Amino acid sequence: MKRFSRRETLAISTSFVTGSLLAAPAKAQGRPRVVIVGGGFGGASAARTLRQIEPDFDVILITEAAQFSTCPFSNMVIAGERPFEAITFGYDGLAARGVQIVIGRAIELQTSGQVVVMEDGTKVAYDRLIVSPGIELKYTDIPGYDEALQDRMPHAWKAGAQTVLLRDQIAAMRQGGTFVMSVPNNPYRCPPGPYERAGLVAHFFKKNNPTAKIIIVDGKDSFSKQALFTEAWDHLYPGMITHVPFSDNGGVIEVDPEALTVTTAFETFAGDVVNLIPPQRAPQLLLQAGLGGDGEWCPIDQATFESPFAPGVHVLGDAAIVGDMPKSGFSASVQGGVCAHVVAALLQGEPPQQGVLLNTCYSLVGPEYGISVAGVYRVNAEGRLKSVEGTGGTSPTGASDDFRVSEAAYAKSWYANMTTYLFG
Ligand SMILES: Cc1cc2nc3c(=O)[nH]c(=O)nc-3n(C[C@H](O)[C@H](O)[C@H](O)COP(=O)(O)OP(=O)(O)OC[C@H]3O[C@@H](n4cnc5c(N)ncnc54)[C@H](O)[C@@H]3O)c2cc1C
Repeated sequence: MKRFSRRETLAISTSFVTGSLLAAPAKAQGRPRVVIVGGGFGGASAARTLRQIEPDFDVILITEAAQFSTCPFSNMVIAGERPFEAITFGYDGLAARGVQIVIGRAIELQTSGQVVVMEDGTKVAYDRLIVSPGIELKYTDIPGYDEALQDRMPHAWKAGAQTVLLRDQIAAMRQGGTFVMSVPNNPYRCPPGPYERAGLVAHFFKKNNPTAKIIIVDGKDSFSKQALFTEAWDHLYPGMITHVPFSDNGGVIEVDPEALTVTTAFETFAGDVVNLIPPQRAPQLLLQAGLGGDGEWCPIDQATFESPFAPGVHVLGDAAIVGDMPKSGFSASVQGGVCAHVVAALLQGEPPQQGVLLNTCYSLVGPEYGISVAGVYRVNAEGRLKSVEGTGGTSPTGASDDFRVSEAAYAKSWYANMTTYLFG
């Protein structure tokens, strides 16, 4: 292990005293202790990377449930192309690598005392904290909707029981019925996710319910990879998917879960199945700790992921404002890796290295039809994580079916590699 500066040693040992009074699990003397909240893409990546580069650190991963179902590839489950079990993982792989797993809900971050408070009252002390808890859905922002109605109009925007419910509703939909999807304005988790879902549901309908229709009621006028999606819809599912942009609907003003209608400023859309994706924000856990400042997402130092509002706390993934990077699992996992290096350096009393970050968002418009957008990001002179000019971009329109089959294979391979790295 590298040597600490005297100041750093003092800071760490002081917090160890506090920690040893409060911490669960027990803290080994003299070992830097990093606590991570959220065992999804950002948190699992940070935990695995940190243990790999600093085997002498204590790395504690706090996460709500013993199993994690991924949103990536959940649209394939909804379309009946993969079993739900294929997107669900446990934490044995991380535990075998020496990450201490704490299953439970964190309810408060006491950032001045460097402690995470758990639902059962346990307090977990840290030297540095990494948080990647994903998103919170703003159910009541839509008049007529609230969390209790999510089973009637599922969102399926957090993978789990909602994914299975939406899959089953779609499978049971009457012949020739209508599937209505309400999509929020930006920013939200996975910008291309709703349009991937529309394509994969259309694939299911083409085989099982060929006269069914899909209507996307959108909270914006344009969307990620739009030219690629619309080309694919016309090619694979002609006439089945209608996209109603914000300027043609004026925004959702009310929903009626009993009647299964979505009313916009200009029109009411009736569905046999309604997939209502509410607007989103960073979880209350972070906003209550002041990590959002005056806003609903968490600003960070884009080179170190450290919060300007709480020294020693690093925010990753969907909850954070990470420059030009989209809210994706790929982004969150890369951020987790870079943040692990930053935290390791800071706890060793060294200046953190500057990372170059990558993202690729694959979307499957059919099980064998893939499209993608990629980006490379670097912190600029103003401290913003910006797309590097001349890199990335979308895959081409007008490509052959063989090209699309290859992109679908890359998407599946990305998913297998990523989940093996995080949970395998
Ligand atoms: C339909 C859909 C398809 C998608 N497809 C893709 C894709 O193909 N590729 C891609 O890159 N991205 C995709 N995404 C986006 C991706 O799922 C998210 O961007 C990613 O999961 C964000 O990672 P995260 O670490 O911020 O949050 P998450 O991965 O959601 O992890 C958060 C974790 O924190 C836990 N947690 C939350 N609060 C607490 C608490 N208080 N205490 C303890 N634990 C807590 C949660 O239970 C969860 O385990 C998709 C999203 C959707 C909805």
